[in-house]
Amino acid sequence: MAPMKDTDERLLKEEAHRMLTEYMSEHHQRKTPERYAVLDAVYSFEGLFDADQLYQRLEGEFRVSRASIYTTLDLLARIGLVVRNQMPSKVYYERNIPGQVHFYKACTECGKLERFNNDSIGRLLKEMPVKRFHPSMYALTVSGLCSKCLSNINRRKKRLDKKKLPKSKSEAVVKSNGDKEQAKDSARDKKKTNKT
Ligand SMILES: [Zn+2]
Repeated sequence: MAPMKDTDERLLKEEAHRMLTEYMSEHHQRKTPERYAVLDAVYSFEGLFDADQLYQRLEGEFRVSRASIYTTLDLLARIGLVVRNQMPSKVYYERNIPGQVHFYKACTECGKLERFNNDSIGRLLKEMPVKRFHPSMYALTVSGLCSKCLSNINRRKKRLDKKKLPKSKSEAVVKSNGDKEQAKDSARDKKKTNKT
């Protein structure tokens, strides 16, 4: 996926503003500046974000309550400007850009969710026929363990194995060889004492 140019970003944002205005006019809702502020904050994220991150981004710039953030996110999802991703650990949001394909790595241990790209599979997904459905955005999640969690688990396992297992064979061999050496030494010592 090629990075978006500034003009594309500006056009996307303008179009999102237009859609929000249109929806609010049609549904006789008040066009409060909070809603546009939330929309702009949503569009400032390149990828995934959660409600807390959105709240933090708005903090200091615009006074918006958490409740208002949630209602606006719901509204934006209804209009199709935002996509909700329900993950085992929490709900993530991201802008809905038609035709985009997103891939995610979801760690089942720490709950971390990260985006990655795969152009060839992305192209295949877009060509995939979906019966009686008009796709707009595609997302594919790969669940598993992130490298940090995997190495932590391996380290823990190694520590446990060390505690559980009896002395390894190689150690035993070294010990028995050592015993032999010691026996030879003592025999030599005996000879010496006999001589004198
Ligand atoms: Zn992890």
